[in-house]
This record gives sequence, structure tokens and C-alpha cells, in this order.
Amino acid sequence: MSVDPQDSQRQPSQQGSRIDRYVGSYAERAQGMVASEVRALFAVASRPEVVSLAGGMPNVGALPLDRIGDIVQKVVAEQGGVALQYGSAQGDPVLREHICEVMSLEGIEAGSEDVIVTVGSQQALDLVTRVFVDPGDVVLAEAPTYVTAINTFAAFQADIQHVAMDGDGVIPEALEETLANLTAAGRRVKFFYTVPNFHNPAGVTLSAERRHRVLEICERYGLLVLEDNPYGLLRYEGEPLRALRADAPDNVIYLGSFSKTLSPGFRIGWALAPPAVRDKLVLAAESAMLSHSTFNQMVVGQYLASHPWREQIKDFNEMYRERRDTMLASLESLMPAGCSWTSPQGGFFVWVTLPEGLDSKAMLPRAVTERVAYVPGTGFYATNEGHGSMRLSFCYPTPEQIREGIRRLVGAIENETALRDTFGSAAAPNTSGPDTPTPDLP
Ligand code: PMP
Repeated sequence: MSVDPQDSQRQPSQQGSRIDRYVGSYAERAQGMVASEVRALFAVASRPEVVSLAGGMPNVGALPLDRIGDIVQKVVAEQGGVALQYGSAQGDPVLREHICEVMSLEGIEAGSEDVIVTVGSQQALDLVTRVFVDPGDVVLAEAPTYVTAINTFAAFQADIQHVAMDGDGVIPEALEETLANLTAAGRRVKFFYTVPNFHNPAGVTLSAERRHRVLEICERYGLLVLEDNPYGLLRYEGEPLRALRADAPDNVIYLGSFSKTLSPGFRIGWALAPPAVRDKLVLAAESAMLSHSTFNQMVVGQYLASHPWREQIKDFNEMYRERRDTMLASLESLMPAGCSWTSPQGGFFVWVTLPEGLDSKAMLPRAVTERVAYVPGTGFYATNEGHGSMRLSFCYPTPEQIREGIRRLVGAIENETALRDTFGSAAAPNTSGPDTPTPDLP
């Protein structure tokens, strides 16, 4: 490392930060904020020759960009004085009315006064955790669960405990047993975090029957449910299910987002919370960012008021359905024996389980050499689990790319199986120590 000779003559505040002088001053919670060791590999994976089945980027190219351009222009020309000004931490009242209309599609009846606009649903996750979680408190989450929720819970030093899932979502008996054990041990459990529709990363949906049981168990234990539903309207088959919030308004905080049904670039999501919690969330939002982007909220509000957004979602669904079908058909025809995978009815993700003894994380560099990328299952657990699984996404690559990506992936799995058979499972080492969460790569 070369040193700038002028550095030593500068005042400390003027010196470069090549070496972080303040590491020792970080708060304890900053220790939970760590970058994934596979992040570097994803820089390689984003090269054009690599088919990435890793990221969860919605296909915004399918949006009517001219129309959105017109709306932007109209908002500036006609309401610029308001749109370019500070707003409130709770969010634009007009947009909040539209949000209630969107939520009614999943059976939710709510007043706009209980909605808080957030910077994507990610900020809602952060605010809820900020308001509820002290270091050491338990947060329950499905196994596996959304990687950036893990990051958020870890940043607030939560003790994340997983609850098993199967093809119908979280298993109520497992939830009840976990709660009984934690209660007997005198632990403080703050909420149960769930992605009930088209789960990220597992691709499964919580069945209607289980929704009632989950609500009943949480009610009995006095446990808040945090329902994260960014994919609910992206359904490619079957009937829509009622949101958990629709049947338990007092016990559920519901999180929604326009990132998948419109665009993540606006960074607009929301939380719907019982009034007392809502007030705390607004205060937390105020200290985090004072006010939202009034401009972005007004553009999204105009879009919802003047564009046939339900038709747009139907168009998205047709496009994503074709991609999902392509991925499932390719897996069906090409995957070697011993692999299994979920069949999502919507959303973006398929969860693949590898043959015994294969490690998706150890295999990733070799798969990238084969020019295909995925997210290893380990990123979706707060514990050292998930080595035998991976998340594949079908939202962004074209059907041709998906077919080619699966073909390459199958090549990588076959090579890995040959290595395993020659050298034993040591060829696909189980990397030591608990995993750092993998970023939800775009
Ligand atoms: N929750 C889940 C389950 C997600 O998959 C995502 C996006 N990947 C988010 C929350 C955050 O989405 P956004 O902040 O863009 O609304």
C-alpha cells in the first residue's frame, strides 16, 4: 500500500480513511453488520457472459416508460411546489388512500390513517425492529427466510430463531413447539416474521388452513405477527388468499411494497399497523429520515390514479408466468436424480435442494466458472444451515437465458457429484462457522 506523504502533515480530520481508525469505536450492534464472503463472487457473476439466476430484480423494462415519463412531467409542472417540498414522515395522504385500495385486493379493510409510507418495505422492517427489539430478544422467522430481514434483525442484535416450513408454508406445530420452549425458558419473543405468499427464498405459500392456525397460535401466546407481502399480487395460478392482517387487524403488522408491482426505483413501500404501534413507527421514521420523497410519492400516486395498474400487474404476471414455467420445465427435464425443488404459484423464486453431500456454497465458484450464478442456501439462515440448498430466481433473465442457465447449472451439479464420488464429501467442504448473510443481490 502506498502512503501519501502529505497525509502525515494533515490534521487527523483531513487524512484519508485508508485505514479505519475508528473500528474500535463502533457500537456493538455494528458487529452484526457484515458483508457476505460471496459478495465478491457476485461482481464476477454480473458479467454479461454469466447467466444470473441469483438476483431478485423485477423486470422494469416491461413498464410503460413513456407513460411514467408523462406522469413525472405532469407532477412537476402542475404540483411542483408541493412535490419538491418536504412532506410528512407518515407519508402522502393521497398515496395512503391508494395503498388501502391495493390492500383491499387481499381482503384487508383499513383506513389510510393506519398506513405509514416507508422507503421500500425494507425500511418498514427496520422501523418495526427498531421499535420492538432490544439486544437478545428473540425474533422468530421461517427457515429459510428473507436474507435482508436477517441482516436487519441482526443489526438490532436480535436472537433469530427459525421455524420449520414445508410445501404449505410454516408448520403450525413447529411454531407452537418453538413458542412453548421459549416461553418455558423465560425468553422474550417479540414477533413472528413471515412471508406468506410466494416466499423469498422458498417459493412456497402458506395455505389458507394454516393461516388460521398460525394466527390462533400467535394470539394465544400474545405474539405479534409481522406479515411481509411484497409478492402477493404476482400470482400466476390459483386463487388469491386473504392476507393474515385481514383476519387479525390487532395482532398483525402488514408490510407491502410497490417494488415488484411497479418499480423498486421509487423506493415506496408501507406498513399497516394498529394505531399505537403506528404512532411509534411514525416517530421512528421521523428520526430516521425526517420526511419521505414527496416527489416519488406523488408520481406513484398519480400512476395509481391515472393508469390501469391492475392491467399492468396482469401483464407482469403473464411475463413472469412464462419465465417460471420455463424454469420449472427446464428443471424437470434436465436436473439429475437426487435434486428436488419447489413449484411457486407466483413471486420470483424456486428453492432447489441438492443431492446428499453437495454444498451449494462450496460449489458456487465452480458454477460461476460454468457461467451460471445462484444464491447459496446458507444466506437465508441465521444459523449454519442451508448448505444443501440454493435459491434460483426467474424474474429477470429471459426464457432463453433461463434454459441456458439451468443447462449450465446441471453441468456444475454433475461435476460436483463426480468430485463427491471421487473424493467423498470433503470435495465439497462444509465451510466452517456460521454464515454471514448473503445480500439480496439485484
Ligand atoms: N421483503 C421481502 C420478502 C423481499 O423479497 C424484499 C425485496 N427483495 C423486501 C422485503 C424489500 O423490498 P423493498 O424494500 O424493495 O420494498
